[in-house]
Amino acid sequence: MVRREPSPNQNDSGNALDLFDSHAHVDGSEFDADRDAVLARALAAGVRRLVCIGSGPDVATAERAVALAAAHAAGPVEIWASIGIHPHDVVHMTDATWTRMAELARAPRVVAVGETGLDYHYDLSPRQTQRDAFARFIDLARAAGQPVCCHIRDAHEDARAILRAGRAAELGCVIHCFTGTPADAEAYVDMGIDVSFSGIVTFKTAEELRQAALRVPLERLLVETDCPYLAPLPLRGKRNEPAYLRHTVEFLAELLGRPAAELARISGANAARLYRLPSAGKA
Ligand SMILES: [Zn+2]
Ligand SMILES: [Zn+2]
Repeated sequence: MVRREPSPNQNDSGNALDLFDSHAHVDGSEFDADRDAVLARALAAGVRRLVCIGSGPDVATAERAVALAAAHAAGPVEIWASIGIHPHDVVHMTDATWTRMAELARAPRVVAVGETGLDYHYDLSPRQTQRDAFARFIDLARAAGQPVCCHIRDAHEDARAILRAGRAAELGCVIHCFTGTPADAEAYVDMGIDVSFSGIVTFKTAEELRQAALRVPLERLLVETDCPYLAPLPLRGKRNEPAYLRHTVEFLAELLGRPAAELARISGANAARLYRLPSAGKA
């Protein structure tokens, strides 16, 4: 791959990108010391919209994301929230957790349920518990009228079975931070499910993932930082933040042979469609 030289966050080409970070954990404590500066850098890099994914070990994570979205409803970076319990942690869910999740799924500024899904790489919750919780979160999303944001690692076949049974594509559904094979990507697209790429696609070892990206039609492709994790090249290893989305979009644009501004616009429109936001943002 031809790589650009490291560049500052300011767009030096003169063509401002209009970016939508479809999956960011900006509620996290990693950003407590400098969240305003992080959001200012995001805006300077062209990130005008982002969805804060409030899905961690507990209800408090989701509540934090909902509060952050409420506080940033008017921008300058517009923030919405998604709520869930991460597949790592579903073994600890109680009836009270499920009740609170159902309430939060209907809270103002909440536009999705998740991340939910299956992670057979770490297996931090028993697989059957993960499968049961994933199906239940899809039902919860249907009841609340929300799309589903999925975290799937080393579990794509089981995931597709659950997504099919829950008719998740009808709700709107994205596989976030996709790390499967090209055939997995095609299978999701065939089901009517969106596929989102993070900074991993820029990593030197990610050739198979780049092949997968080439198989996703533009109308199904989303981009995300998944910050504070997974900073793209040339920033790999640093704390990730929404401003760095630009590097992933420029890299993908080069891979796909499209102008970066076009890829930014289309992936942003796809995210707005998934989360049911008007393209100009939702009050
Ligand atoms: Zn994830
Ligand atoms: Zn995430």
